[in-house]
Amino acid sequence: MSSYDLIVVGGGPGGSAAAKEAADAGLKTIVFERGRFCGEKNSSGFGLSPKAARDFPYIKELDVPSLWPTKFGVMHIVQPKPSNADRMTWGLTPPRRSSYPEASQYMVQMMYRPEFDQWMMEKATSAGAELKLKTLVTNVIRDGEQVVGVVDQDGRQYRAPVVIAADGAHSLLAQKAGLRKRWDKDQVTVLATLDFEADPDRIAEYCGDTNVHIYMGPDRGGYVCIFRSGFHIGSRPAKTLLNEIEAGRNLSSTSVMENAQLDFVQRLIKATRAKPREFQLHFLPWLKKFNERIYTGGLMLTGDAAGVPEPFMAEGVWQAMYSSRLAAQVAARAHRDKDFSKAYFKQYMEELKASPVGVDFTSGAVLRDFFAEWTSKTFYDLFDNVADAMFYGMLTMAEPHAQGMLRVPGIFADMIPQLLFLARYYFPIAEEASREKTANFLAGMRALTPLLQSMMPPATAGGK
Ligand SMILES: Cc1cc2nc3c(=O)[nH]c(=O)nc-3n(C[C@H](O)[C@H](O)[C@H](O)COP(=O)(O)OP(=O)(O)OC[C@H]3O[C@@H](n4cnc5c(N)ncnc54)[C@H](O)[C@@H]3O)c2cc1C
Repeated sequence: MSSYDLIVVGGGPGGSAAAKEAADAGLKTIVFERGRFCGEKNSSGFGLSPKAARDFPYIKELDVPSLWPTKFGVMHIVQPKPSNADRMTWGLTPPRRSSYPEASQYMVQMMYRPEFDQWMMEKATSAGAELKLKTLVTNVIRDGEQVVGVVDQDGRQYRAPVVIAADGAHSLLAQKAGLRKRWDKDQVTVLATLDFEADPDRIAEYCGDTNVHIYMGPDRGGYVCIFRSGFHIGSRPAKTLLNEIEAGRNLSSTSVMENAQLDFVQRLIKATRAKPREFQLHFLPWLKKFNERIYTGGLMLTGDAAGVPEPFMAEGVWQAMYSSRLAAQVAARAHRDKDFSKAYFKQYMEELKASPVGVDFTSGAVLRDFFAEWTSKTFYDLFDNVADAMFYGMLTMAEPHAQGMLRVPGIFADMIPQLLFLARYYFPIAEEASREKTANFLAGMRALTPLLQSMMPPATAGGK
């Protein structure tokens, strides 16, 4: 039997971030990955948000062949079916205003997951972590209630006072540690992607810096992410597995197939000589409420295993890295304090809930409700009005401009229900986000009150 300070199960971005942090802190760390190499199960690409470069200095050194920062994104508002044409299209560079430099340099960094997962694991192993590939962990070892190690598919035992389970959406360890059974059907989503291989020169020539497209229209939606040598088509905003069962079909797959018919996607396929490479269906935890059952004595769940993906845009890599690094920091403190109890690991859950991951989760859940009610038809109507305000109004070339300008107020009046709907969701989120600032501002005003009062002329009897 081998002994370690920390066992990490899963060689995805969460597992590597935990292992690097722990190895840097001097913990004897081992990572188990069931694949032949890290990222084997993810054959397509993804977008890494700039938050990763903000929070993990080593991400600034990221250098893999498929890496492509998104410097220009395109939004398509697609006409009602059966048309596959855009009603309105606009392109955007990253925001001019941002709270840190990377956020105004690119929107996301596109790349292939196998390349990223292997690059991340290299960071962990060069920090001193041991990696065991082709090793499926099948169970935990317990001492009473306490988890004290794991067992692999060949029955080999490995002991450590702390286990970090970064074993993805299906997390066998969450079940074996008694933290949950399977996710409920309304707690997971099934996401489809259709991946294409394409000629890199043609992609560079045809797409330039434009490597993300998002589209929406009545009863449709989705995205295309473009990489150096291919791209994938994703589905409209996710539905839960329960929604899919109730609908009697896989909505995500249907949406992807329909999206492949859109005019601009067909043009992309033809221009880059693209060939379908792979169709995938992946599970992703899709919770509405922050999951607090993510620790027990000797074990912490991180990333998808903990259910932390942001429940609006399905972003999960930064969340996996952040939660896993935090768990590794708590593991290092537990070694220092020689306390591996369930009560000790509660601090991991509490710190994660209060962290940017927890805050992002809460606002994501509100936005998801917003889009569940505000259908893509309402969204389409809003932009349909915006398009008319421009081209039936001020910018018309069909009639005198003055005549067009007179129509604009009427078009804006038509938008009032849509704008009111937006306000109903926007203000509660803004209030939540600005609560601390408002409290500080009010505290400052209160502190100023005595000074302001001392400057007021004394009140005189009779108001004179
Ligand atoms: C279609 C789709 C598109 C997405 N796009 C994005 C995106 O653009 N940007 C983004 O940020 N997020 C995206 N996500 C979410 C993101 O992929 C996940 O949130 C992220 O991969 C979670 O990382 P993780 O390390 O927690 O788990 P995983 O990446 O799932 O890694 C878990 C690892 O554990 C291994 N493993 C599992 N069980 C065992 C075991 N018992 N023993 C040993 N090894 C085991 C697996 O082989 C795997 O390598 C997307 C998800 C889907 C489904």
